[in-house]
This record gives sequence, structure tokens and C-alpha cells, in this order.
Amino acid sequence: MAILYAAEPEEAALWTEALAELDGSLNFRFWPDWGDPSEVDFVIIGGKSPGDLTIFPKLKAIQSTWAGVNHLLRSPGLPRGVPIARMVDQGLTGSMTEFVVYQVLDVIRQGPELRAAQKAVTWLELIARQASDFRVGVLGLGTLGSDVAGKLAALGCQMRGWSRSPKEAGPGITSFAGAEALPAFLDQLDILICLLPLTPDTENLLDAKMFAPLAEGAVLINVARGAHLNEADLLAALASGRLSRAILDVFREEPLPAGHHFWRHPRITLTPHVAAITRAGTGASDILENYRRATAGKPLLNQVDVAKGY
Ligand code: NAP
Repeated sequence: MAILYAAEPEEAALWTEALAELDGSLNFRFWPDWGDPSEVDFVIIGGKSPGDLTIFPKLKAIQSTWAGVNHLLRSPGLPRGVPIARMVDQGLTGSMTEFVVYQVLDVIRQGPELRAAQKAVTWLELIARQASDFRVGVLGLGTLGSDVAGKLAALGCQMRGWSRSPKEAGPGITSFAGAEALPAFLDQLDILICLLPLTPDTENLLDAKMFAPLAEGAVLINVARGAHLNEADLLAALASGRLSRAILDVFREEPLPAGHHFWRHPRITLTPHVAAITRAGTGASDILENYRRATAGKPLLNQVDVAKGY
């Protein structure tokens, strides 16, 4: 019985150390030194597509250390019928909320304008705007989106959230569900935040049709996946003033190639997929619990619904 760490060797030490602290009897293997394939019963993977996992005949479960599993579900080496768990971790949720709140406050308090004014040695007395002046929408009211929406509502933003199924979204948040509710959700939003999983239904969703109902000069924040965004439509929306700014943490190709025009676009703020990272210190206990559940044949925590794609 062995746990195989199947990707990102630089992360392996961090996770195995945290897991070994919880249970010293665990037996780890590291890709590609898995030894006898029939001894591997649990695989932990990170953000890269795994190799061929069908070679492990006794594999009981696959655990992702990432919240999004789109890369995994599209992998040709994924064995059918083996349950997959994604990462839900308070450290990850907290860091995503921090990142989004920080970016939203920068928009509200006109950070780019003030930084440009200082650079130009200009005393720019902007009329102060407050959170309560802003209509903010979160696409995806799941683990991350609901925490972000809750914290922004507490700051006073006029919050809306969109999901597949209706939600009891908490104080100050209006829930919209399903494709038919999308136009009402988008109507005159000042800030649109994407926290959807990447699935065939959500790929390329951030396009001209999506931007049209927003308030003139709205801001887009994409912290989900690069393939949610139609890049040409974003550039056109920034050129026309339909959008005034985009804050992007995720890209179709990562690392973003040096020649990509996003790097130098004056209205794009980009960060290198750092909005939220799973923390081994807080995430390891759920992984251990899932290892125990998998070996006992029990349903996993945070099990992915393969048909839904998240
Ligand atoms: P989650 O808990 O699975 O939540 C997903 C939400 O999206 C749910 O509310 C779901 O609706 C909604 N949704 C899915 N498909 C939809 C559709 N077709 N129409 C409307 N709503 C839809 O996921 P999470 O843990 O919050 O993570 C969200 C995503 O964030 C991940 O998949 C990942 O891509 C991204 N992420 C990025 C970073 C980063 O560093 N940039 C870090 C972690 C995660 P229901 O509730 O009705 O099912």
C-alpha cells in the first residue's frame, strides 16, 4: 500500500512532510519511481496533467492538491471509475478571498489613478468612492466564490452571485441561478469576478456578450482559468471603453509567453497564477482522511462530479 506523489517534485517534500507529521506510517513513492505498480493505491497530483495512471491496477482514489481539476479530467491517462477528490482548504479559500478583496479595494479606491498621479507629481484630489457605490458580481458561488462574496458584502459592496443552482447566499448577496438568470445578474455590474470551474459550459464564457450588459467602464477580474476568457473580445472591450480595466491571474498558456500583449497593456494588471495556493499545513488532514476513506472503500471528501466537470 503506497501513496504516489505524481507531479511537481518541488511540492512533494512539502506535502509528504505535512502528511508524515500526521501519520508516520505512510508509505510514499515519487513519480516516476513508483516501484511495483500494484502497490500504489492512492495518487496525489498537483496542477499539471498526470502521466498514465491506468498502469496502477489497485488505484483506489486520486487526490488533487488543486481546487480546479479541469486539467486532470481532460487527461488521457485518467483511469475510468476511480474517484477523484479536489482540494478544499481553508488556507486556499482565505488566500483567494484576500487576493480578490485586495484587487476590488484597489479598484474602488482608484489605486491605478493615484499611483499614476504620484508618478506624474500631481496632487490628484479624486472624489472618494466607497464599496457601497459598487455593484459587484461573482460568477460561481462555490467554495471560493461564496467566501469572496461574503467578505465583499461585509465591506458594503452591492453583491450578486451566479451559480447553476440557487443559493441561500447570505446577507447582502443576491443569488442568480442558471443561464436564464445571467442577463439580470450582469445588468450594470461595475465589477465582474470569475470564480467558475473550467468546464465545456464555462469555457470562453467571458466574451463580448458577457461584457455588453455591464456598466460602461466596468472592471473584469478573472481568477478562475485562462480559457474562460475570449482574449480578442477583452482587448476590443478595453479599446472601446466597455471595460476600463482587467485584472488577470490566469491565462490560456502559463507561464504567459513574454511576447503576449497582455504583459504591456496599460489597462491590464496581471499576476502569475498566484491568487490562491493550497497550504500543506491546512490541506494535509483532508488528504489523509481521503486516503483512509479510499482504502476503506468509503466516499471521499470533496469528491469531483465527473459528469458535471467540477
Ligand atoms: P466550486 O466549489 O466547485 O464552485 C463552483 C461554482 O461554480 C458553483 O457555485 C457552481 O454552481 C458554479 N458553476 C459551475 N458551472 C456553472 C455553470 N455552467 N453555470 C453557472 N454556475 C456554474 O469551486 P471553487 O472551489 O469555488 O473553485 C472555483 C475555481 O477557482 C476552480 O475550479 C479553479 O479553476 C479556480 N481557482 C483558481 C485559483 C488561482 O490561484 N487563480 C486557485 C484555486 C481555484 P453550483 O453551486 O450550483 O454547482
